Amino acid sequence: MIKTKAYAAQNATSPLVPFELQRRIPGPEDVQIAILYCGVCHSDLHTARNEWRNTLYPSVPGHEIVGRVVAVGDRVGGFKAGDLVGVGCMVDSCGHCTSCSDGEEQYCENGFTGTYNGPLFGGENTYGGYAQTIVVKESFVLRIRHDEKQLASVAPLLCAGITTYSPLRRWGAGPGRRVGIVGLGGLGHMGVKIAHAMGAHVTLFTTSPGKIADGKRLGADEVCISTDPAQMGARANRLDLILNTVAAPHNLDAYLQLLKRDGTMTLVGAPAEAHPSPNVFNLILKRRQLAGSLIGGIRETQEMLDFCVEHGIVSDIEVIAMDYINTAYERMLKGDVKYRFVIDMKSLR
Ligand code: NAP
Ligand code: ZN
Repeated sequence: MIKTKAYAAQNATSPLVPFELQRRIPGPEDVQIAILYCGVCHSDLHTARNEWRNTLYPSVPGHEIVGRVVAVGDRVGGFKAGDLVGVGCMVDSCGHCTSCSDGEEQYCENGFTGTYNGPLFGGENTYGGYAQTIVVKESFVLRIRHDEKQLASVAPLLCAGITTYSPLRRWGAGPGRRVGIVGLGGLGHMGVKIAHAMGAHVTLFTTSPGKIADGKRLGADEVCISTDPAQMGARANRLDLILNTVAAPHNLDAYLQLLKRDGTMTLVGAPAEAHPSPNVFNLILKRRQLAGSLIGGIRETQEMLDFCVEHGIVSDIEVIAMDYINTAYERMLKGDVKYRFVIDMKSLR
């Protein structure tokens, strides 16, 4: 086994603390990666604090991993020592159900294995990227083609990037389409950049007046303060697609009313408590749709990374040391991050 320094939550209420874990010796199809940076997703916080009521402890979060290959198994053909690679939210899936056959491993009918917190339908715990090293099956390793100097800012693409890219592609963000992005956090700021690069007309909805200038700099054509009924009302029946990234329960009707006939609002934010139930007439009267979306498959994650290279897209980040993580969680809860914390793993050595 490979001894690895890490940070873990031992229960739902204590801060994360130093922890030592063991990674497996790479098997024939495995890639061993020295983790250089790991992004901090709001899902890490939901999990560390057991907000989704399914956390296995000790919990080592982190699923926005970038690093360098240090060793590969005999049957690994696509990677070699020295390559820059990424690992996102999944490290395995059954490989044979219809979802896996379609390249949509995140919907694996037998439950994908999360990079942390183990298989979706129960099983042995897995430990994520708040660690020095990880060993991952080749088919779940992504190639990083960005310039090495940008590596820290690439890490958040592995979750925030793909979670916004996948629904934007699926629901057709592009020229002539009006797209709303709700919430300017880690996911939302990637959503604004990616929807803009796809050629859509982008409206950012934010509760934070202090983020208006940033919203425009990141690619929004319009910014709407979502707590102002006049600004919301002025946008009724105008949008083709809304991508809602908000991490807390809120009134969905306020956004459904902004969709055109046949428009769709896709929820990617995953709050611990339910949203108040929307008024069905906001769906029925304009054949609107309310949908959800989970990260993206491995093939699509590589497509997203390559799209981001082509369009010069990375995340806006604040680099932190590992021992700052508990403060970072508190700041994330206050919306006080522009727009993703990324842990420099050198701070753990
Ligand atoms: P984040 O950085 O904390 O951003 C969330 C943003 O939502 C905030 O910046 C804020 O934006 C807005 N917001 C927060 N509380 C709000 C409230 N009470 N009312 C209105 N707006 C509020 O979080 P994140 O990392 O982007 O993650 C967002 C959510 O997506 C989390 O629940 C996470 O677990 C989930 N997630 C889902 C997937 C998936 O596959 N579906 C993948 C990754 C993450 P403003 O200041 O602009 O209003
Ligand atoms: Zn995430």
